[in-house]
Amino acid sequence: MHGRLDYVVEEHGFDKMKKNFAIIGGGATGPLLLSRIAEEALENNTRCDGLTIHLIDPNGFGNGGIAYGMAHSNHKLNSIPSEMNGNKSSSFPAFLNQKNISFDNEEFNTRASYKPYIKDELVDKPIAILRSLGAQVVVHRSSAFIKKDSSDTYSIVDQDPTQEGNDANLLAPELTELTSDDFVLTVGYGGNNNFKSLQGKTGYVHNIYDRDLSLVDRFPQLGSEDVRIAVLGSGPGLYDVANELNIIPSDLFVFSGSGKGLSVRDVSVEDGESSISPQQLLNMDVNASLERVLKCVSDEFQTASSNRSHRRIGLDINKNLKEILHNLDESVAEEFLKSPTLAYIKHCATPVPLASKEKLDQLSPTFVRGKVRDENITTNDDGSFTISSNGNKCEVDIIINATGHGRHNAPILNSLKQDDLASVSKRTAVLDTDHTGYRLCESGIAVIGPATHIGTDGMESFAPFADDLAKKTVQNWQPLNEKAEPQLQSIEWN
Ligand SMILES: Cc1cc2nc3c(=O)[nH]c(=O)nc-3n(C[C@H](O)[C@H](O)[C@H](O)COP(=O)(O)OP(=O)(O)OC[C@H]3O[C@@H](n4cnc5c(N)ncnc54)[C@H](O)[C@@H]3O)c2cc1C
Repeated sequence: MHGRLDYVVEEHGFDKMKKNFAIIGGGATGPLLLSRIAEEALENNTRCDGLTIHLIDPNGFGNGGIAYGMAHSNHKLNSIPSEMNGNKSSSFPAFLNQKNISFDNEEFNTRASYKPYIKDELVDKPIAILRSLGAQVVVHRSSAFIKKDSSDTYSIVDQDPTQEGNDANLLAPELTELTSDDFVLTVGYGGNNNFKSLQGKTGYVHNIYDRDLSLVDRFPQLGSEDVRIAVLGSGPGLYDVANELNIIPSDLFVFSGSGKGLSVRDVSVEDGESSISPQQLLNMDVNASLERVLKCVSDEFQTASSNRSHRRIGLDINKNLKEILHNLDESVAEEFLKSPTLAYIKHCATPVPLASKEKLDQLSPTFVRGKVRDENITTNDDGSFTISSNGNKCEVDIIINATGHGRHNAPILNSLKQDDLASVSKRTAVLDTDHTGYRLCESGIAVIGPATHIGTDGMESFAPFADDLAKKTVQNWQPLNEKAEPQLQSIEWN
């Protein structure tokens, strides 16, 4: 027998099983899952003796992740406080009140205000609940990788087993011989693979979102007035870069397919606006042509009214994108993913606060129309770069890749792909999953997060998956356990 049925011991007259369960990745979604498991156990009076939950993240579990780990005040949440409740029992507005942080429920709070909420309410509190119910919770400040042992068992190790010369150590001896039901990946986005030929070059900024150091701390050249900068991409990343710069560079070129930046949108909640599902698009069948799909999108935008703005429509289509793409013919889906229409949908769904736009304007950017690829860039003898695109040419000292996330390029996901434990769908450009939407087709490993979804981001969108998984985890555990003492129901937190 493997994994969770390894040890079955008689105690207090009932069979008690020992189980190890691991959550790998403690940004936003990992804590959400943890807190839902604790809520489920508490609601169902489930004693968890014998259950050990391992929480693994090199940056600490509850670090805010890529979205909420960012402290810049121009970064705003994309939902109003009352819609940012991570789980059923911990209200975000109540947390803000308790911490004496002022907020307006009609406005978006800063992202930074969400990180302590994640740590306190979605990590520390659930850990205390689970421990009070008899579970052991072990926090590992380490990266994790998956090593395949036999056809249905895995080990969690701390070094990438696909990298030569890496001695993969077991993170904890009990994390061997796990089945795919015993761990969940919530590892977020990886960096993107664009501009492979520039990787590792001084002056090339591969990832703008480094958790530990600001952009200028990592690239001190960005603090000098005579620096020449090219930003590739004109989406939210461009505004994030602008917010980080403290100087006015001698040149700031922005390359993008559209040749312009995002328009500033109303980031407040439109009066009476509610989300709807784009039924016509969701009902497309496999014979639908690209033209038909584009016409349908255009029809959706035609319905814009005071009650349904372009921003809302963009958000609604974006949220349902994976399902829409699933119904389409593979080649139509691929074309749609590359189409300017999809770029417009994303553009509409992305609000840029006025403060970020003003900051960018102060830097007097020159927008250049033209997509840049590896072959458009040459590195000069002095380390500077020449970029030629669409008949335009410029020379810069620093190239900043602001073309977006990688989705499924995190090292742990790459190693799964290399081991044939995961594959990427051509239709949706995310990891292939089974009907549940979060278990990888090849290995059955659960991955909750952007790696398996397109169009949807964040805790809000993954909450239903976390909910389902938490229920199953607790249900699976319950039959072999006694019920919790009733007084556990009344645990209160100040
Ligand atoms: C500036 C910015 C704004 C955003 N705004 C929004 C928004 O408004 N709404 C929204 O819904 N989404 C937004 N996103 C997307 C955002 O990335 C997700 O919403 C959210 O962070 C996803 O949560 P996650 O838990 O999947 O990933 P993350 O929060 O990124 O967490 C992943 C965690 O996994 C850890 N990890 C990675 N590899 C390993 C490994 N091998 N072993 C152990 N741990 C590992 C990382 O250290 C990290 O803590 C934004 C992203 C950015 C960059």
